[in-house]
Order: sequence, then C-alpha cells, then structure tokens
Amino acid sequence: MSIIDGKAISAGIREELKKEVAALKVQGTVPGLAVILVGDDPASAVYVSNKEKACEEIGIRSAVHRLSAQTSQESLIELIKSLNADKAIHGILVQLPLPKPLDPLVVLRAVNPDKDVDGLHVVTAGRLFVGEKGFIPCTPRGIMHLIKSTGIEISGKNAVVVGRSNMVGKPVAHLLLGENATVTICHSRTRNLDAICANADILVAAIGRPGMITGDYIKPGAVVIDVGTTKVDGKLKGDVLFEEAVNKAAFITPVPGGVGPMTITMLLANTLEAARMYG
Ligand code: NAP
Repeated sequence: MSIIDGKAISAGIREELKKEVAALKVQGTVPGLAVILVGDDPASAVYVSNKEKACEEIGIRSAVHRLSAQTSQESLIELIKSLNADKAIHGILVQLPLPKPLDPLVVLRAVNPDKDVDGLHVVTAGRLFVGEKGFIPCTPRGIMHLIKSTGIEISGKNAVVVGRSNMVGKPVAHLLLGENATVTICHSRTRNLDAICANADILVAAIGRPGMITGDYIKPGAVVIDVGTTKVDGKLKGDVLFEEAVNKAAFITPVPGGVGPMTITMLLANTLEAARMYG
C-alpha cells in the first residue's frame, strides 16, 4: 500500500508553474486571474484568500472583487462582462456558492468560456463531453494527476465514480472515459453500491458522507481517490474510512493532504494555459 501525497505532488507542480510563468513574463505576458467573491461566507473567504496567496507565490497577478451579498445579478454580470473584455485578465473565477437569489448557472454563463479557468461554464462542459480542447475543472484535473502519479495503466481498467455533480463526479467520469477506462457512475439511488465499488480498479469517492466507503467497498490492489471533505468535530474527514481502506488499496489519498492541495494548483495551471493561449 502506498499513500498518494497530494501535498508533495502539488508543491512539485507549483515549482514548475512558477518557472513557466516567469518564462511567459519574459515574453511580455503576465498571467492575470480575476476572482469574484459575493457575500460573506467565511469558508468562501478563506478559499479566495488561499487562491490569492497561491497566485502571488508563483507570479500570477490576481484581482479579487469582493462584493456585498446584496449585489444584483445584473451588476454581477456587468462586472463579468467588463472582465471578459479586459486584456490583462486571462482567467475569471466566480466563487461558489453564490448567495440567494443569485442563480449560479446564469452567472457562470456570463463568463467567456475562453477565460473559464474554473471549468464550470456549460460550453466548457460541452467541450469536455465531446473531447474538444477546453479547460478541465480544477478538482477533476487534480484527481487525474493523482491517479497518473501512481504509474498504473488506466486504459481498460474498471473505474467507479461515486457522485455525479457537475463540479466533480461527471467531469471525472468523462476524463476517465477519455483515458479508456470502463466507467461506472454511482449516486444516491444506486443499488448494491458496495458490490459495484468492490469491482473497481480505480475508485473515486465524491459524495460528502464521511467514512461511508468502508473496507468492504475496496477491491484489493485498487487505486482509491477520496474527494470528500466534511468537517466533523472541527476535523476534515473524507468519504473513505481510511483506516480500513488503507489495508486493501494499492494506492490511496489521505484527507487532508490528497485531492485538496491539487485543486488550487490546477486553477493556477489553467490560468497559465489561458494566458498562453489568449494572452
Ligand atoms: P454534491 O454536489 O453534493 O454531490 C454529491 C454526490 O454524491 C451526488 O451525486 C449524490 O447523489 C451522491 N451521493 C450522496 N449520498 C450518496 C449515497 N448515500 N450513496 C451514493 N451516492 C451518494 O457534492 P460535490 O460538490 O460533488 O462534492 C462531493 C464531496 O467532495 C464533498 O465532500 C465536497 O466537499 C468535496 N469536494 C472537495 C474538493 C476538494 O478540492 N478537495 C472539491 C470539490 C468537492 P445524487 O446526485 O443522487 O444526489
């Protein structure tokens, strides 16, 4: 059994990105990311300042727009339109969740897909679906990195994704399919979930139910990616019962320190890509 060290993998990628950003600057382009935070959700505020810090560390210029919870949908969309037109901004991220009554699907649709570094625009999802080049949502992109870091061959393997959200489950399933895995997507109405998971060579759990995936769900020798992050008594818990799964899996991500550190790193990678393509 081997623990996949998302923190170390992420740090290695950030070092590379830093060099690539410096090289792009020499050519006259400074990658720019705009982040929009609406309202005062404390968790979102922490995520946004982590993104700001990460940009600064590798030399990406970030501009954070902090708006009140009373911001109207029209003025939010106006801001997005002005960022779409801003040549110094290569990536635009709207921090979710948005306070009610703002409609995230409508707001996200205002982002130019060529600046959609979070990968949540409907056009970006369509590009992924048909296999066209486009931004890959950050967490799924990070998950694929972690799976590939194990060196296992993905092609022909049984991959099971538990969770079908637009942000994680569905894009991960498409990415695995793109690598020629045989993919099963499970959700809250799936029957015999334990038996389906126990047949997975690659198991991705993106549920949000701490410890639900016990040892019985794990095929001996599987690669197990735990996306879940739920606070239990002040501590982050994954969807996988680590102490049981670790004895059966060949490779497993811990929580914290697995998928989490990869998400912002992939945002940086997407922003650099946007600056290269459209800078
Ligand atoms: P979500 O939108 O709430 O989706 C959860 C999915 O799990 C749904 O598809 C749901 O099925 C399924 N599900 C719920 N209960 C289930 C059950 N008992 N059996 C089987 N499937 C069940 O969540 P998400 O945004 O995808 O996030 C999932 C988890 O990943 C959360 O803990 C979140 O905090 C975490 N996350 C972590 C990162 C990171 O960077 N580390 C990033 C994103 C998300 P239905 O569709 O049938 O309801």
